[in-house]
Amino acid sequence: LNYQAASFITSAPTLAKCPADAGAEVAFAGRSNAGKSSAINALTRQKALARTSKTPGRTQLINFFSLDEGDEHRLVDLPGYGYAKVPEQVKLEWQRHLSDYLRRRASLRGLVLLMDVRHPLTEFDQTLLGWADEADMPVHILLTKADKLKRGAAKNALQQVRSRLREWEDLVTVQLFSSLKKDGIEEVHQRLDDWLLA
Ligand code: GDP
Repeated sequence: LNYQAASFITSAPTLAKCPADAGAEVAFAGRSNAGKSSAINALTRQKALARTSKTPGRTQLINFFSLDEGDEHRLVDLPGYGYAKVPEQVKLEWQRHLSDYLRRRASLRGLVLLMDVRHPLTEFDQTLLGWADEADMPVHILLTKADKLKRGAAKNALQQVRSRLREWEDLVTVQLFSSLKKDGIEEVHQRLDDWLLA
């Protein structure tokens, strides 16, 4: 697929308001500040397709991007989680929507889960992996900001995350990624192609 052709379709405040459940899509999730917007911009080679924000958690809308004219193949930017200032009630509501989305969205082919390579597998990352497992939804993990570690340390982090996820190895793949250095882009494109074109 031509990821550079990605264009904004719509923002939805809830998953109930998202575009028709047809074609194929891949969703991006991660803790606020994990580098999700930067990764979407790097993957599509666009400067500001997904908005990077200085205020963590600002993006609360679900953003849909199309990869082709009929919107048959889509990227979905889910709101970042873990932002402390969001009221507990809102958090719980969003979590319920998210687990419903993973279970019920027929066009959803896979989840890209972004984690800062220095702080992988937070509590909610693990909750999300549990839901993906229940929904039988494959997950591709990007350990972001890999440029912040030396090569050896980054490789160690990768191995550690892989070994902690051994019980899910059928469903979960992991790679290093750096939006800053544009490292790991081909590997992600390959994974997205596998899912979206299957
Ligand atoms: P989001 O909240 O998950 O969408 O995260 P952003 O993409 O807005 O990034 C959060 C912060 O991390 C920003 O200050 C980015 O400049 C920084 N950042 C994102 N990706 C990278 C990366 O690959 N390397 C480095 N060094 N910083 C990054």
